[in-house]
Amino acid sequence: MQHSDFRRGFFLLLAILTIFSFSWGGEEKSRFVVGDIVAGPGEIKSGYLPVPEKDGIGTRIPVSVINGSKPGKVLALVAGVHGYEYPPILALYRLKNRIDPEALSGTLILVHIANLQSFQKRIIYYNPHDWKNLNRVFPGDPEGTISQRVAHVLKEEVVDRCDYLIDMHCGDGNEALIPYTYWMISGNEEQDELSKKMALAFGIKYIIIDKSRTKDISQSKYLGNTAVLFQKPAITTESGYLGKTDEESIVRNTRGALSVMRLLGMIQGEPDMVSDPIWIDKYEVIYSTQDGLFYPLTEMGYFAQKGEKLGFLTDYLGNVIQEYRAPFTGIVLYIIHTPPANKGEPLFEVGSVLNK
Ligand SMILES: [Zn+2]
Repeated sequence: MQHSDFRRGFFLLLAILTIFSFSWGGEEKSRFVVGDIVAGPGEIKSGYLPVPEKDGIGTRIPVSVINGSKPGKVLALVAGVHGYEYPPILALYRLKNRIDPEALSGTLILVHIANLQSFQKRIIYYNPHDWKNLNRVFPGDPEGTISQRVAHVLKEEVVDRCDYLIDMHCGDGNEALIPYTYWMISGNEEQDELSKKMALAFGIKYIIIDKSRTKDISQSKYLGNTAVLFQKPAITTESGYLGKTDEESIVRNTRGALSVMRLLGMIQGEPDMVSDPIWIDKYEVIYSTQDGLFYPLTEMGYFAQKGEKLGFLTDYLGNVIQEYRAPFTGIVLYIIHTPPANKGEPLFEVGSVLNK
């Protein structure tokens, strides 16, 4: 071999190695990008997803991306779609400190507070600028009001980027609620089986088999349903109540998320699956028919008989104006336990237990 041939051969080899290492690196584990947040393999990066201003109103969504050093699934955990629902929000900050990216396979997207403006103003259900419920305006609209624009950013940057999603809720500031999970049925058997496993792995024994959500992707309404309609296995969880930050509710959220991560092979260990699930095959939310004060006559988790009186409404002068009864025999999943009642807003939800 002549000297120049040797050099040519050396550079050719170098070029091949370079290309090989790039493509190999791409297959092994690459950086993960959400908005402007770029996390390399084995890195945790946090930042904000901007929601552009319109008519002087804009906001931002705090997010952490934990990119594991090994390849695997992408799981999105979303808290604070309702800004007064604290245990899931606190649980995600704990998870951020607990997950070791070196030991993680795949990527975790943590949306810390989806609805920052309602969190800042301590407002239940709504965003204080457009008075819309973020969890009714998905998939959102980049030209719409602030809630619709937040929904659009979450759809583009979180739903589209993940393989699996958990929308983490709890009883809002006014709701006494027992823990339960919505298993939303898509009709795709394989996807539904994965969602079911996620529900069981999350660890809450009351599981609603939810066939009621719209299949219209342009009006998907709920974050969890949006993920489902985009073929991502997803669940919506409820753990926490009445604006509290009790340890039990926070731990139920962290444990649930870690168990689902084990199910998906993202961290070591076996998931802790619910062994005695209570399936709820029908549920109904009873809404207030008028403005006034609501007086609950029972607690969350009460097993009510069909027609049983569960609460009543008075007007602002103290006159009883309406009674509310259980629409069928079942468990009171939540019931509002603060006085304000507004026409069209929920008072309680009853779930019918399968085979009981
Ligand atoms: Zn909620």
